Amino acid sequence: MARLEGKVAIITGGAGTLGFEDAKFFVHEGAKVALADMAEEAGEQRANELGDDAIFVKLNVTDEASWETAFQTVEKQFGKVNVLVNNAGIGDTPSYIKDLSVADWNKVMAVNLTGVMIGVKYGFQHMTEEGGSIINISSVIGNVGLARAAAYSAAKAGVRELTKTAAIEAAELKLPIRVNSVHPGWVDTGIVPEMMKQLALEKTPIKVLQYLLLVIDYIYY
Ligand code: NAD
Repeated sequence: MARLEGKVAIITGGAGTLGFEDAKFFVHEGAKVALADMAEEAGEQRANELGDDAIFVKLNVTDEASWETAFQTVEKQFGKVNVLVNNAGIGDTPSYIKDLSVADWNKVMAVNLTGVMIGVKYGFQHMTEEGGSIINISSVIGNVGLARAAAYSAAKAGVRELTKTAAIEAAELKLPIRVNSVHPGWVDTGIVPEMMKQLALEKTPIKVLQYLLLVIDYIYY
């Protein structure tokens, strides 16, 4: 039997590179999937590629009302939500902190950290019946830092600690929900600025920017 048979997942940033890879894998494993993203055209197209097991849902992760609508839409279509992958993210415009504008900092923090917090909040409200799993996509950069990516690294480090607190709160509130974070290394997608790619390769021991899919393990085990 496929490992995610009977499960329903929301993947934020599902129209993007890694989110869509997750979605393909989830559908392959038997799940129904909602690609939740701001990018309507790409999201509709990618959901169509996955057939009847997938829908596109418009979501701005920084907007609470948008989260409530997204959960309601998925529940109406597939009956429930068991898995939330908080994957949507944006990169910094590369800049040393001495030149960093507060507006650029706030923009990255809003999507990469506040957006994850709101997702956990609505997951905790909506995923209580059958229970399930919330997976927050952080980054290796949240563990080691990176010059000219202060907001990104701070937000991703924040995601790691937010995840721990969320897991503790779920236990304290007796919610049947697991919360974990995943910290991928560099992958060659649109989120990696061109000027960072050489640096990324130098920092990657195997010298290939690729995605190792660990997400599935957090849902299954
Ligand atoms: P990507 O740019 O291909 O995909 C990101 C997606 O997020 C896009 O579809 C975009 O439309 C969506 N998005 C942006 N802002 C949004 C918002 N406000 N609301 C809803 N959706 C929004 O990037 P990717 O490389 O696939 O990144 C996916 C996740 O993986 C990100 O959280 C990223 O930080 C993380 N990550 C990426 C790498 C890497 O090297 N590519 C490494 C570690 C972690």
